[in-house]
Amino acid sequence: MTSCHVTEDPIKKVAIFGGTHGNELTGVFLVKHWLENGAEIQRTGLEVKPFITNPRAVKKCTRYIDCDLNRVFDSENLGKTMSKDLPYEVRRAQEINHLFGPKDNEDSYDVIFDLHNTTSNMGCTLILEDSGNDFLIQMFHYIKTSLAPLPCYVYLIEHPSLKYATTRSIAKYPVEVGPQPQGVLRADILDQMRKMIKHALDFIQNFNEGKEFPPCAIEVYKIMEKVDYPRNENGDIAAIIHPNLQDQDWKPLHPGDPVFLTLDGQIIPLGGDGTVYPVFVNEAAYYEKREAFAKTTKLTLNAKSVRSSLH
Ligand SMILES: [Zn+2]
Repeated sequence: MTSCHVTEDPIKKVAIFGGTHGNELTGVFLVKHWLENGAEIQRTGLEVKPFITNPRAVKKCTRYIDCDLNRVFDSENLGKTMSKDLPYEVRRAQEINHLFGPKDNEDSYDVIFDLHNTTSNMGCTLILEDSGNDFLIQMFHYIKTSLAPLPCYVYLIEHPSLKYATTRSIAKYPVEVGPQPQGVLRADILDQMRKMIKHALDFIQNFNEGKEFPPCAIEVYKIMEKVDYPRNENGDIAAIIHPNLQDQDWKPLHPGDPVFLTLDGQIIPLGGDGTVYPVFVNEAAYYEKREAFAKTTKLTLNAKSVRSSLH
């Protein structure tokens, strides 16, 4: 092994999660389909398990029952003593961690794809938490290349203070596709998500069969900060996303460009002195999180060559 090669163990177990948010229907629909007929996600030598993560929220077609399942996979919540008084999603996170994790445990799943929709105009999006993971960068490069000319963006959420607490405990990789309203199924979005999973599984199969992936580079958008709506003294939203910014996820936003618009026509522009790339613009689920959009910066990540250690 040389310093420009990384060898890793073959991937044995992959899970595909749908319904982490019960009203994001593409993942719910695909996972339910694969539970009935999983032929298209089966790969030789690989265990692939489709799984509905928040069945009560799926049944009610709501984001969650008590709290956001995608924000409780932190050690504090996973370590709480199991009791029926705990929020439903905290109990569920513990069950899921037990079934699929914990990370670095011998029986735990190697890769988990967690299927989400966004109401923002983000197209196909892969979320990366670790900019130094050669295997994942290679996989994302493979998915991006396979989907082209359809764009596929990588959102890097590695940030010292913005904690998502999604998944450090289990190796879960969010896949987002939008725009799609909550509680709605769109055929174009379903097709895109289905292709992303196909290419991801193909990559893993190639890797397991001994294919060496040469060094590569991918463009990523790294989170800088989340931006709340302007608010009045009561805490109510005082301005909405400006029409020039609506649906412009991943597009450059320059200082002075319109960001918000008040009902009496006042434009609130972008401050600062640098171009940013907005994501999750006007995402429906983030009103309660007080996030109008997130600012990102564009950068390139390089990955070393990877291949399976069995070959
Ligand atoms: Zn979601």
